[in-house]
Amino acid sequence: MMPDMHVLVINCGSSSLKAAIIDHHTGTQVADARVERIGEAEPQMRVDSGAAEPCNALDASAALAIALPRLVARLPDGQALAAVGHRVVHGGPDFVRPTVLTDDVEAAIEGLIPLAPLHNPANLAGIRAARALLPDLPHVAVFDTAFHSTLPRRARSYAISTAVAEAHGIRRYGFHGISHQFIARAAAQHMEADVRDLRLITCHLGNGCSVAAVEHGRSVETSMGMTPLEGLVMGTRSGDVDAGVLVQLLRSGEFDVDSLDTMLNRNSGLAGLSGVGNDMRDIEARAADGDEACRLALQVFAHRVRKYIGAYAAVMGGVDAICFSGGIGENSEPVRHRIAQRLDYLGARLDEERNRDVDVSAGADKPTVAEFSTRHSRTRLLVVATDEARGIARDTVRVVLELAQTQAELSIPVAISARHVHLTQECVEALFGAGHTLTARNPLTQPGQFACEETVDLIGPKRSIERVRVLGPTRGKNQIEISRTDEFRLGLDAPVRASGDVANSPGITLVGSEGRRVDLHEGVICALRHIHMTPEDAVRFGVKDRDIVEVALDSTGRDLVFGDVLVRVKSSYKLEMHIDTDEGNAAGVTSETTAALHAMGSATLRRRGTRYDRVED
Ligand code: ADP
Repeated sequence: MMPDMHVLVINCGSSSLKAAIIDHHTGTQVADARVERIGEAEPQMRVDSGAAEPCNALDASAALAIALPRLVARLPDGQALAAVGHRVVHGGPDFVRPTVLTDDVEAAIEGLIPLAPLHNPANLAGIRAARALLPDLPHVAVFDTAFHSTLPRRARSYAISTAVAEAHGIRRYGFHGISHQFIARAAAQHMEADVRDLRLITCHLGNGCSVAAVEHGRSVETSMGMTPLEGLVMGTRSGDVDAGVLVQLLRSGEFDVDSLDTMLNRNSGLAGLSGVGNDMRDIEARAADGDEACRLALQVFAHRVRKYIGAYAAVMGGVDAICFSGGIGENSEPVRHRIAQRLDYLGARLDEERNRDVDVSAGADKPTVAEFSTRHSRTRLLVVATDEARGIARDTVRVVLELAQTQAELSIPVAISARHVHLTQECVEALFGAGHTLTARNPLTQPGQFACEETVDLIGPKRSIERVRVLGPTRGKNQIEISRTDEFRLGLDAPVRASGDVANSPGITLVGSEGRRVDLHEGVICALRHIHMTPEDAVRFGVKDRDIVEVALDSTGRDLVFGDVLVRVKSSYKLEMHIDTDEGNAAGVTSETTAALHAMGSATLRRRGTRYDRVED
């Protein structure tokens, strides 16, 4: 785990952009900026809890360009951003986990706009702005719907005609998933239990409100559906309404599609019932003064949550903790009281005094979870300070680390084989004197192989090459491995062959110490590029011994894809790709030392090809 990983978290809405830097290691927020009224008259930015400042944010891109330097300036000395996490509201049926952003993923999120016409375009604007400004960082999309992808079919299906549902992609997705997941984990941690052993009901009660049944760490029910309109009473959204009402309102002629949409999404919920807006604090104050509409708003709000809690306990066959979160859930003692009273039948006993004392408001030494059930309550009542930015940062880090690990696991060290010679013992003695044995100079990466002190001169028909390194140990056949460039110099036409396959290759004259000469009638080859690997590596890469594969070589400025790469599998091998000097140069791999074989760079194996059958080892 990287100790200090600072993640930029971006939540881009239609007219606002929230950005925060989270120190993943400590879980703390280093800085945050909020730009509001983007593209409207007089946009404003607020950095941390500072005063609102006017700013010239015409769009998300401009807003981020203004906010980013202010945020980055707050990073501790010597620290830089490591990754960017983006909140994306709708991941549709396919994005069931956080995903590294590529152009294709961006296009797929764009394709989901019909499912979230208000949110996904804004999320995309933030993604595009950030990828343009920070092109060298990994960007990860974290989806609000993903946590609910585990909803069983019975919970995600509407009881309408299957044909209609399929034709229009109508199903329940659920939202606020980042928050529900965060709440469930924090609750489990507080209870010193594994989330996989718990049945939790998580209530996110903010401007948007939803409740989820989290059984053994998985969301099995949630109150928002195909869109974030279904379920609980929200600040301005109605939540559940008999669909027949909508039909009747459309029929009445008083509403068309757009005005009905506005009525349900913007003028309903607490605002619609209370007539005084969507702020729960105002509604509570007025209700306390006897305002009937506000009292009704409170009652309907709490009743709906209670109804869902009972339903979700029934869905899971019990519940271990009921968690309250979001601006209302975390701060409103009266609302929690209204919801949690008379839940004794579920084993949840409200402790009024503890409910009054709850304080999870942000602060370095403040707890983020508080309990307000009685000490012997079988089912616990918890308040959890949700932190979606931290949830996004956590998912982002996880995905980035997984990616790094996958790349490391699937990358292959590359070694350049400079020209070299393998000799039989007979040839060693002919070149270096009777009874001579090879002297190891330095070991090579393949176990048991070594470069020798001995060198030989190669005498070709045209020219010669001096002091070519001999590699040990001795072999059953002499083999001289040279590059195409060497062939031109020597005046030879050697075939491209796998090691050991020297039949009918050209011969050459070798000169050893004290001028001893050996004329070989065959043995000169241009080595077929190859990868040594263990059987375990072969499983990992999905290849077999003697497969021919294609390999992309990752080098600065001269990336190259090699076809016709032979796979050699043996348990004594060490994972390594061998290419010759011509190939190394073509791919911009530079050799800095004079060692016969030198490990450099890394390569990635791309795909499987045909088998090579002429290897004789
Ligand atoms: P969002 O869903 O936009 O993130 P929040 O989670 O911040 O919204 O919740 C906003 C809601 O929380 C508002 O209705 C606000 O009135 C309510 N709220 C915040 N503080 C309190 C409080 N002390 N008492 C009652 N309601 C509160």
